[in-house]
Amino acid sequence: MANEPPTAPTETNLPSDPSLYDLDRVALGELLDGEPRFRLDQVWSGLYEQLKDPADISNIPKVLRTAIDELLPPSLTMVRRSVSDDRETSKFLWQLRDGYLIETVLMHYDDRTTVCVSSQAGCAMACGFCATGQAGFDRHLSTGEMVEQVIRAGQISAETNRRVDNVVFMGMGEPLANLGPVASALERLNEDVGIGARHLTVSTVGVVPGIEAFTDLQSQVGLAVSLHAANDTKRNELVPINKRFPLDVLARACHRYVQTTGRRLSFEWAMIDGVNDTDADAAELAAYATPLRAHVNLIPLNATPAYATVGSPLSRVHQFKDRLHTGGVNATVRRNRGTDIDAACGQLTAHHRSVRR
Ligand code: SAH
Repeated sequence: MANEPPTAPTETNLPSDPSLYDLDRVALGELLDGEPRFRLDQVWSGLYEQLKDPADISNIPKVLRTAIDELLPPSLTMVRRSVSDDRETSKFLWQLRDGYLIETVLMHYDDRTTVCVSSQAGCAMACGFCATGQAGFDRHLSTGEMVEQVIRAGQISAETNRRVDNVVFMGMGEPLANLGPVASALERLNEDVGIGARHLTVSTVGVVPGIEAFTDLQSQVGLAVSLHAANDTKRNELVPINKRFPLDVLARACHRYVQTTGRRLSFEWAMIDGVNDTDADAAELAAYATPLRAHVNLIPLNATPAYATVGSPLSRVHQFKDRLHTGGVNATVRRNRGTDIDAACGQLTAHHRSVRR
């Protein structure tokens, strides 16, 4: 089994009754049938523009607020909020209505606020260095479960007079294995919450049919590909889906995304000590990234329980970046955020599970 490449699950087994942010405007209009026509605008604007809970949408009758609350319950119950030392990073552990756990990270920077959302409970892609991959797949998230993560982070940001400017689908799960609901969530965030498409990013492990379908959406939403190795032998080890969609196939899909959308592609590269941080790795990466004009994000690996290797020392990360620059590739080092609060993908859930065990 260990040598088999992972497959994307097709079963959704989502809760069948919709939650607060699952309905699109038309479906919410149907639910409000019998109300005056302007009610839909009031409710929609209350939920998505003013980020209000139904109980606080004060320009609609109280009975309607209660009815919405009962018919469309929220999908997320906060289990824990961890705040990092600098107070600029918060991590939320949520319980879904069927009991599964997911995480969201909220990061304030000087010039922007970013939310990192989960697209699945767990993940089936089995990358060994990733805490979510180590734990396995629970289920896909619905559109509303993804949108709600952003709304809740937005409500919390408003307490300190900040608003969410960027959303990255870099939390738990593989977004391109759940593209239908992810695409609807992107649309809702763009059109209703008002986050520009160029401020939305989807990160993929490299599920090629997903990249093709994402390209065909012809949107301006950004794409990041988790590369981590630029030769097939090494990438097969680090990112098992590579056995199904090897690097040359991945490069063709990336090329078509760039050609079709005109957007710059990013590669993510978790720097793992002695594994993918040598000069030879940098040379392979430069050769792979150059024809695609991709930008490289270097992320020092966060240690996880079931993976013995640690992140590269910062000096090595910077040397690696310099090698890439010399090779003509644009690269930046992503500042680790919230390492003290287990903010890397899946870590909080893993910790919560082991504490409860
Ligand atoms: N499944 C998607 C999105 C979720 S993971 C994907 O693979 O892109 C988001 C990013 O965090 C990916 O680049 C992933 O490889 C990286 N990541 C996972 N575990 C990590 C860890 N322990 N340290 C650093 N980066 C990690």
